Amino acid sequence: GQPEVLQEGKAKILIDKKNIFYNPVQEFNRDLSVAVLTQFSKDWTDKMNNDPKIVEKRGLRVLEALSATGLRSIRYAKEVPGIDEIVANDISVSAVEAIKKNVVFNQVDSIVKPHANDATMVMYENRRNKFDVIDLDPYGCPSIFLDGAVQSIKDNGLLLVTATDMAVLAGNSPETCYVKYGAVSLKSKSCHEMALRILLQHIASHAGRYGKVITPLLSVSADFYIRVFVKIHTSQKSCKQNTSNLGMVYQYKHCEFCKYKHQMGGPLWTGKLHDKDFIHKILKNIESEEENNIQSLGTIRRIHGMLYVIEEELEVPLYYQLDQLTSTIRGNVPPMTTFRSAIFNAGYQISYSHANKYSIKTNAPNTVIWDIIRAW
Ligand code: SAM
Repeated sequence: GQPEVLQEGKAKILIDKKNIFYNPVQEFNRDLSVAVLTQFSKDWTDKMNNDPKIVEKRGLRVLEALSATGLRSIRYAKEVPGIDEIVANDISVSAVEAIKKNVVFNQVDSIVKPHANDATMVMYENRRNKFDVIDLDPYGCPSIFLDGAVQSIKDNGLLLVTATDMAVLAGNSPETCYVKYGAVSLKSKSCHEMALRILLQHIASHAGRYGKVITPLLSVSADFYIRVFVKIHTSQKSCKQNTSNLGMVYQYKHCEFCKYKHQMGGPLWTGKLHDKDFIHKILKNIESEEENNIQSLGTIRRIHGMLYVIEEELEVPLYYQLDQLTSTIRGNVPPMTTFRSAIFNAGYQISYSHANKYSIKTNAPNTVIWDIIRAW
């Protein structure tokens, strides 16, 4: 029959019944990526315009390695300024047929180039003609694409990576997590942040093999997936410091003072999850869009809310959950506000994590936390 037309952001996508590639749940992922890429592109353009050594001014060259309908690439072409070319690739012949139709339908054929190949091949073939931006949005685990990605991205380029195999990353199968990500996951209240740190550790280890390091701009846990946005650049010196950005987690099943054995997880990325200045700039863009009523992002309110929490997140790894602390000593749960001011009055910082609405992130040592809980 006639294909249905679906609008998301500024893109219109033809959906026919045979075509199962459109996933509406990922609208937030695409909106957020548009917001991040917009700011990345602004910074990139500013840097280029202010550098007299760069004579040939040009826009970004982007690879969407696993593109399905082409929706994401079309949205980047229409919504993000400063892009010259987007290669929209998929291994599936029917997906690439869909990409071709959608690209013409949206009149972005001068920017978006449909391409049919294995994503790894596209990246290896472009090692001498690198991309400024690579977006990896696979079903499940992105591991097999990372070696190609870190090799075919330009210095100071942006890598965007989704992982949807949350059961593996969140501790349901630690052995599989080790096989896929080179780190053991743990079941824990802070498993979502642990998942982010496992993925970042994994990307950093791939980058390190080529003398490159990562700088996370934003790391997000949402719905049933995680998404990280990292800048990559070459620095042999910083690579050597990579081990200082890694750590192991020792988790006691009960409390430290019990005689139970602990479990060990990791290695995890213990460096920063976000670049707060960068996030602040995205928040400013969003606020000005909201004020001027020119919002093209369907999930702008959710993005605003999440980035607002992230901007306040303490840069200390992982978090507690209040009920977990009190159930360990079988005590009553103090109100969150009471607990927060106790930490604060003891001279430490405390914040939420965007990954868990009951979370307590703090730089207070364990002993201080247990003292407060026991005293309640
Ligand atoms: N990025 C898309 C979006 O936002 O709408 C969704 C991508 S979908 C989750 C994953 C796609 O990866 C599928 O279309 C699948 O055909 C494709 N794919 C799987 N393995 C691939 C490979 N090795 N190379 C290229 N594409 C692949």
